[in-house]
Amino acid sequence: MEKSANGWPASADPEAIDIVRKRVPGTDLKLRVAERVAPLLIGFAADFHKLVEPIDETKTLDDWGYCYRKVRGSNTVVSNHSSGTAIDLNATQHPLGAVGTFTDEQVQVINRLCRKYALRWGGNYRNRKDEMHFEIALNATQVETIIRGLGLENDESENEQTIKDSSTGGGVLGSRST
Ligand SMILES: [Zn+2]
Repeated sequence: MEKSANGWPASADPEAIDIVRKRVPGTDLKLRVAERVAPLLIGFAADFHKLVEPIDETKTLDDWGYCYRKVRGSNTVVSNHSSGTAIDLNATQHPLGAVGTFTDEQVQVINRLCRKYALRWGGNYRNRKDEMHFEIALNATQVETIIRGLGLENDESENEQTIKDSSTGGGVLGSRST
């Protein structure tokens, strides 16, 4: 099977890679992510909303999870959004390529949360920065260990919000992230 840049299975068919739609606790926002990494990405998004800045769920086209496509500007590298292992938050406030869209204090919290949930932040990319973007950087076994360590493996409290999503991703926007 095709893989995204971080090694996770990617597909234009969301059902083939167990994409689910999950509500971010504390918000009405629902993000589409791969089921196996959902506790990390959704947990992170909830903490981001509480501790970094509110996720603006009223804006359309501002927050993204699964979306099948190549990395912006690449014809070959499959975006981690294609495997449902990356999310973009408050995209219009933190556009692709922009630097310093968060305060130093926010950056500290972001880095702390990324360590907690074992995510890589696009703001720490060496080349083109992508401050809206957060992605899984570990393999499936490592992800399971982190989820167990955080006690999130049986977190079914949001279960009624988990809906198998069979629609296809539709991101065709100019300044979308990697
Ligand atoms: Zn992104």
